[in-house]
Amino acid sequence: MSDALPVILTVDDETEVLRAVQRDLRSHYAADYRIIGATGGREAIDVINELATRGGALALILADQRMPQVSGVDVLRASLSPFPSAKRALLTAYADTDAAISAINDVGLDHYIMKPWDPPEEKLYPILDDLLEDWLADYRPTFTGIRIVGHEWSKEAFELKAFLAMNQVPYRSFVVGVDPEAETLMQSAGSDNGDLPMFLFPEGPPLLRPTQAELAGRIGLKTHAQAPAYDVAIVGAGPAGLAAAVYGASEGLATLLIEASAPGGQAGQSSLIENYLGFPRGISGADLARRAAAQATRFGAEILVPARVMQIERKDPYKIIHLDDGSSVTTKAMVVTSGVEYRRLRAEGLDDLVGAGVYYGTSRIEAENHRGQPIYVVGGGNSAGQAALFLTRFTDDVTIVIRGESLVDTMSAYLIENIDANPAITVSPRSAVVGAKGDQHLEKLTLENLGTGSVEDVDAGALFIFIGQRAQTDWLGAIVQLDERGFVLSGAELGPLKDWSVDRDPFPLESSVPGIFVAGDVRHGSIRRVAGATGEGATAIRFVHRHLASL
Ligand SMILES: Cc1cc2nc3c(=O)[nH]c(=O)nc-3n(C[C@H](O)[C@H](O)[C@H](O)COP(=O)(O)OP(=O)(O)OC[C@H]3O[C@@H](n4cnc5c(N)ncnc54)[C@H](O)[C@@H]3O)c2cc1C
Repeated sequence: MSDALPVILTVDDETEVLRAVQRDLRSHYAADYRIIGATGGREAIDVINELATRGGALALILADQRMPQVSGVDVLRASLSPFPSAKRALLTAYADTDAAISAINDVGLDHYIMKPWDPPEEKLYPILDDLLEDWLADYRPTFTGIRIVGHEWSKEAFELKAFLAMNQVPYRSFVVGVDPEAETLMQSAGSDNGDLPMFLFPEGPPLLRPTQAELAGRIGLKTHAQAPAYDVAIVGAGPAGLAAAVYGASEGLATLLIEASAPGGQAGQSSLIENYLGFPRGISGADLARRAAAQATRFGAEILVPARVMQIERKDPYKIIHLDDGSSVTTKAMVVTSGVEYRRLRAEGLDDLVGAGVYYGTSRIEAENHRGQPIYVVGGGNSAGQAALFLTRFTDDVTIVIRGESLVDTMSAYLIENIDANPAITVSPRSAVVGAKGDQHLEKLTLENLGTGSVEDVDAGALFIFIGQRAQTDWLGAIVQLDERGFVLSGAELGPLKDWSVDRDPFPLESSVPGIFVAGDVRHGSIRRVAGATGEGATAIRFVHRHLASL
């Protein structure tokens, strides 16, 4: 059922009459309304419920009063809760006038129209025009994206919403006990509290407590490789992986890009990347990711999202990549672009509140949930600075907690200037978050003054943590050489080689296994910038070609 236009629903159990009403309605209203006919009360109530579940708009119901089992008034009554502002009219015979009059009080009947209504120009359209004009005055087009019904602090809902947000899929959230529509949506979908979170789509049945993969399938993401083997497989779709995919695919390689959560990586979390070449006013990470993913796809790269690489197996000259859904693909070459993730903050009570006021990184949806509340940011690096500035769009009470004396040694000068000039941000030096408290969500933080050792509890709506990063290389196991912090060694930085199976030295960006390259933040010695990552991703493909040519 397409939900683009508001609906006029007409109901009659006599098919001839129904056909005649539909014909007259179509000839006058088809440009602005979708005319739906139902041959009986039960069918009409099904249409109403389905429309409510899909988030459609019901402008008017025109129902014959006299129908067996479910009368016109019954149909109008069923529409009251899901569509309180719809206009309601009855088609009546003289004998039904009493029923129509009592329906005015009973179901807020707006009008009753005597049968026959010929000519419609006199007896039908003027009445309905008035009703529809009234309805239109208050009508706000319905949101036609995904609607999510869930409990306020549900971790399950939070993670799935974050997944949609990272993949730039718009949705609207209805919280049980807070938004009255939540109950109506649950009722019309026939679900209860145990089914939450529930996802309602413009088309197709709702998803109840879906897995990320189920949700991915419904929003059109691919999670399974189309082919059994590729020239190059790239692990991680941050800037480095996306650049490698664009260059690989555009240069004719059968290219697979595998991403565990959403294209963009860390850059996708940046509200404004100001130092990337060619964007003098900056570009949001989400925008950059969307453009890059579209570019890679246009050149023919296949992108799997969400799909996590769990392990790789070396079968020279091939590499077998094992994914988290149990499937595997074979590739001749690989580029490791799995980047870094935030280090975890150790503080009492904190882990239990992740997703319920405590967050690693920032995104608009988390910030939206904490409008007007006191917000704390832990960390003194550029990402903490950017996040603090971004959060002032939602509150005028942001505190940056740092262990050091000032931000000077850890943050770029331009960010420090912006922070100093922003009255909504306070910097709390020589302090640390040592505890977090809250029943269902974060309510208080315990801060320690590192100078005096004193501790105090402060009210906090949210805590955003940016305390350094960790290479995402667990999945690589011991297959390639890593430095002591888990970053991948490559080229001239490699130690003595074991099992080096080809008759040449490692190329730049090549790991200790021939044909496995590395690019971006996960590489030992990278500059941890978007430009560095994209440059390395593109460069890695140059060496992939040379490796493939030598096989
Ligand atoms: C908030 C923030 C703001 C920033 N602002 C700027 C800025 O203004 N300018 C700038 O130049 N830099 C900025 N940076 C740094 C920049 O974003 C990074 O240098 C860049 O994103 C690194 O890109 P990458 O592709 O190497 O790795 P990442 O961006 O870390 O991407 C790695 C990807 O690999 C995926 N992955 C990991 N493991 C697996 C696996 N096993 N299977 C499948 N996928 C996997 C991850 O999900 C992730 O998407 C910022 C970083 C942050 C966090």
